[in-house]
Amino acid sequence: MANRVYLCLAHMSGNEMRYIQEAFDTNWVVPLGPNVNGFEADLEAFINSRCHPDPINGGQCASTLQGGLREALPLNKKVVALSAGTAAIHLALVNLGVKAGDEVICQSFTFAASANPVTYLGATPVFVDSEAKTWNIDPNLLEDAIKDRIAKGKKPKAIIPVYLYGMPAYIDEIMEVAKRYNIPVLEDAAEGFGSRYRGQVVGTFGDYGVMSFNGNKMITTSGGGALICPDEEAAKRILFYATQAREPFPYYQHEHIGYNYRMSNICAGIGRGQMTIVGDHLAHHIHTKDVYQEAFKDIDGIELHVAPEDYMEPNYWLNTITVEPEKFGMDYDQLRLILDAANIESRPLWKPMHLQPVFKDAPAYVNGVSEELFKKGLCLPSGPMVSDEDLAYIIETIKTTKK
Ligand SMILES: *Cc1c(COP(=O)(O)O)cnc(C)c1O
Repeated sequence: MANRVYLCLAHMSGNEMRYIQEAFDTNWVVPLGPNVNGFEADLEAFINSRCHPDPINGGQCASTLQGGLREALPLNKKVVALSAGTAAIHLALVNLGVKAGDEVICQSFTFAASANPVTYLGATPVFVDSEAKTWNIDPNLLEDAIKDRIAKGKKPKAIIPVYLYGMPAYIDEIMEVAKRYNIPVLEDAAEGFGSRYRGQVVGTFGDYGVMSFNGNKMITTSGGGALICPDEEAAKRILFYATQAREPFPYYQHEHIGYNYRMSNICAGIGRGQMTIVGDHLAHHIHTKDVYQEAFKDIDGIELHVAPEDYMEPNYWLNTITVEPEKFGMDYDQLRLILDAANIESRPLWKPMHLQPVFKDAPAYVNGVSEELFKKGLCLPSGPMVSDEDLAYIIETIKTTKK
């Protein structure tokens, strides 16, 4: 194939330039303005709704997101647009009162940005492994970890579950554990934009939820993120911290340490354009999953990671596979190199945080699940820029590779 097939490239609706032009025409080239407000309103409408009927399988919900099949929920969650998903995690931890010396539980099987902000505050991440069905934090191991930390003298200040590759977690069970010990939950939904659990979008179950609009995510603002907040008061506080913690005085008065984390009106313009086709993006990711699923049925030793429950509706941000060398004839990394030579980008599953050199001293509660997956899994190209022709080429390459 002449052109390389990438994992997940940004895809524009064509409406982005209109919002950006408007920002220039009205001189709102700053980190506030009509696009920021408009983007937040679009996101709030999106997250405070459920699919109808519930649950819906097979992507019907995703493809009708802009249609009449959305039902408003009395959630009233507020959204604050920020400069990055990482900034959203950082500010949520600030507002939850995480301080130096505290501990925060974090899913180990994730991208480093879930855990890094914990360390910005001088706190320590405590890593908890995943269960094998969703690949997300194991609710039973989570409870074991909480009990052990409490016995050791420190109750964790927050729990960060992750929706890895967009797969919903067992969030009801996670929330149950969190409530039992009265620990706030900060859902890292950076990879899970638009994924649903019992019809409701992920990121709206806990106290806070994180969205990312980095260039490789479900929708993009070139770089950006947002924090889903429980109410108006929390959103106001997040906005206060995101804009340098300025007190209401005519001069600059500061009583707290602030941050410069607000999204710009230009980036928000891109976000508004992206929200006009978010349903199509979701539908396309799910379409790539359907094509892979059909093809891999016949390939021994390749297993596609799909929703383990009918009430889970992943966005399939990245389609992921596990490779069994005894059946397939080679391991995941040999397959990766062959795909690479054929101009197809793939990537090993994320290396768990408890195996990362930078976190070698952090406490970890492991069960072997994420280490096992790291040793046998790959992410495959997904999303709107991957055509049916690309998919056929990827599948053909994998088929002819099999020994
Ligand atoms: C991308 C990502 C983030 C960070 O989002 P940015 O907008 O890139 O800062 C956080 N957590 C996970 C799991 C991610 O994949």
